[in-house]
Amino acid sequence: MEAIFLSARVRRHPDRHVFLVLVVLMSVAAVACRPQPVVTPVDPEPEPPVPPPPVLCGLCGAVVPPETALYRRPLLVLLDNHSAARPQAGIPAACLVFETLAEGGITRLAPVFAHAAPERIGPVRSARPYFLDLALGLDAFIAHAGQSPEAAADIENLKVASLNAFGFDDHYWRESARKAPHNLYTSDERLRAAAVKARLTLTRDAAAVRWPVDVGAAPAAELPAAPGLRVVWPFSSTGHVTVFRWRAAAEGEEYGRYERSVNDKPHLDEESGEILGGRNVAVLFAKMWRIAGDPEGRLDANFTGAGRAIVASDGRLIEAKWRKSTRASALELVDQNGERLELPPGQTWILIVPEQTVVEVLAP
Ligand SMILES: [Zn+2]
Repeated sequence: MEAIFLSARVRRHPDRHVFLVLVVLMSVAAVACRPQPVVTPVDPEPEPPVPPPPVLCGLCGAVVPPETALYRRPLLVLLDNHSAARPQAGIPAACLVFETLAEGGITRLAPVFAHAAPERIGPVRSARPYFLDLALGLDAFIAHAGQSPEAAADIENLKVASLNAFGFDDHYWRESARKAPHNLYTSDERLRAAAVKARLTLTRDAAAVRWPVDVGAAPAAELPAAPGLRVVWPFSSTGHVTVFRWRAAAEGEEYGRYERSVNDKPHLDEESGEILGGRNVAVLFAKMWRIAGDPEGRLDANFTGAGRAIVASDGRLIEAKWRKSTRASALELVDQNGERLELPPGQTWILIVPEQTVVEVLAP
C-alpha cells in the first residue's frame, strides 16, 4: 500500500531521482516493520541428574546403600571368647570390634554393628560395668546375657540401652551343638525388635555421635613398620595370647589386614571359616584391676581419662593416645598433637589392656 501511494506522488515531482531513492528507502522500511515470526528460545538439552555421592559409614568407610541405615543406633554385642565359644558368629559384619578382659584372664569381644545386620551373632555372654562405658560412648544398644551386680546397678543409674537376654528371651536362642553357657545366639533383627519392645530410641543423631577414629588415608610410608602385634593378657593362669599379623592384599582385595590368632591358633569366623582380623588394630592401655575379695575373681577398670595407645594400621605403626572424659562420653583416639586419629577404611579392632600388659611389635 505504501509503495503504490509513493509511486503516485513520484509522477508529480520534478526530481524523480530523489523520489526514487525515497521509494526504495520506504519499501525497505516497510519490510523491516512487518511483524517478524516469534522465535521461542529452545531449551538447552536437560542435564542428566547428578547421582548423589555415595553415603559412607563414618567408622569403617563402607558404602552404605540406604542412607537411613546410617542413622540406625549402633548395636554392641558382648561375645564370649572362652575356647569353648570359638569360633564366634557375626564379627566380620562389625565396623568396630572391642576386646578386653573378663575374669579368669579370658577376654570378651564386643563387635559394634552400625549398618550391617548379621542373622547370627554369638555366643553372647554377660556384662561387666566397664563394658557399659564402651556402649555408652557410642550411644549404642548393648546386648548381653545377664550381668554382674555392679553392672546391674549401672544399667539402671546410667540409663544404658540394655537388651538383656534374661528378659528378652524370645530374642535369643540356644544352639544344641554347643554346651551352655557358650551357646546363646541372636541376630541384628531380633535385637532391634527387642529395642522396639523396650521403647528405646531406635535412631541416633549421626552428627552428635563420635566414633573412636575418623576414616582417612592410609598411614604415611615413612612410619615404622608394624608387621604385627602380640598381646600377652595378664590375670590369666593358663595364658591368653592374642596375635595380629599383617597379611598384604591378595589378588582382588582392596587392602590387606591383620589376621588374628589366639594362643597360636587362627581365630576363625564360624559362618565363613575365614580368619578374623581387620586393617586397623589399636591397643589402649588403661587401669584394670582385680576386685579385692570378689569370689568370682572379677575385674574392674577405669576407661575414663586418657592413656597411651599403639596402633597398627595398614602395616605401619602409630604412637597414639586415647581419651574419654566421662563414662558416657565418646572414646577417642588422638595423635601426639591431640588431633583425632584418621585410619584408612576397613574394620578396626580396639583392644583395651591393663597398663602392665606386655605388647610386642612383631618382627617381619
Ligand atoms: Zn561401618
